[in-house]
Amino acid sequence: MDKFEQTMDGIRKKTPKEQADTVADLKSKCPCPACPTYNTCASKAGEKLFCVLGKSFMCISEDKGCACPQCPIGKEAGLKYQKFCLRGSEMAQRYEHTIWGASLNR
Ligand code: SF4
Ligand code: SF4
Repeated sequence: MDKFEQTMDGIRKKTPKEQADTVADLKSKCPCPACPTYNTCASKAGEKLFCVLGKSFMCISEDKGCACPQCPIGKEAGLKYQKFCLRGSEMAQRYEHTIWGASLNR
């Protein structure tokens, strides 16, 4: 198990209430709003923490750079991927990577 898998395993073992609290806490700390790709639509929709919650829903479509590689939450969780608002969550990108190979994702 790598660091991300261990993180997810730890979250899975929590109660639903603890899981919800963990997501809410991480969402409040997610630095996406400071990223140039983040926009007003995403802000109004309360979208953040794309690495866990998945792609932006019809708000973000233009890639202007990604701050995820510098994010302390991402480092702590052992994330390998980035641009989660455009490409989907870490879990989704890992799944796609296993199916389609490395060329599509990095
Ligand atoms: S996921 Fe990455 S690209 Fe998208 S808003 Fe957050 S930091 Fe920016
Ligand atoms: S890795 Fe990206 S999406 Fe995840 S918390 Fe950090 S800035 Fe937000």
